[in-house]
Amino acid sequence: MTLHKRLEKLYGPFKPFPIREGVEELVLTVLSQNTNDVNRDRAFRTLTEKYPTWDDVLKAPQKKIEDAIRVGGLAQTKSIAIKQILGEIKDRYGKFTLEPISELPIDEAIEVLTRFPQVGVKTAACVLAFSFGEPVIPVDTHVHRLSRRLGLAARNASRDQTFYVLMGIVPEKLRYPFHVFLIKHGRAVCKSQKPLCGECALREMCESKGEW
Ligand code: SF4
Repeated sequence: MTLHKRLEKLYGPFKPFPIREGVEELVLTVLSQNTNDVNRDRAFRTLTEKYPTWDDVLKAPQKKIEDAIRVGGLAQTKSIAIKQILGEIKDRYGKFTLEPISELPIDEAIEVLTRFPQVGVKTAACVLAFSFGEPVIPVDTHVHRLSRRLGLAARNASRDQTFYVLMGIVPEKLRYPFHVFLIKHGRAVCKSQKPLCGECALREMCESKGEW
């Protein structure tokens, strides 16, 4: 049985996340850096309650945005980045949209998105996968850890290197579910500090078996 089939048996059937508009996904992913989902969502909620439109966020003083998103951590860096991103989107497209990027080939879309401050390949991949349904695999901390432990990517591979390795070996239609299943397995079994290898259904196909 293939790795994906085992994961599907454990965590399927796959259900995609609700689709988020592109700018919203981009801001949310910037807010998610170095924090957990709960604090990311709290920061996003406070921000959008105080500043209901992206124009409001853009016009507000940076310090006010920093205060609004403080619960998510790295508030100064993220507030500066969010304002710059929104300003650049408005300048480039005349409104708050990323739709033109969805028309580009994936490599080009990643290149354009990663020109924004605080936007790396993982954040770009989140926008492309979750807003535009593109076949990419965002490499978050779980996907990065499991890919290396399983031996799909080299042990010392960076997140970006892991992204390109996975894009080369995972078929397009499996990429989104594979991302979701690896996260589930990372949370439930292949934990960061103490992987539960003894009860892992992937054990026989895992290169490290937790030893690294
Ligand atoms: S065998 Fe251990 S290291 Fe390998 S995937 Fe399972 S829990 Fe992770």
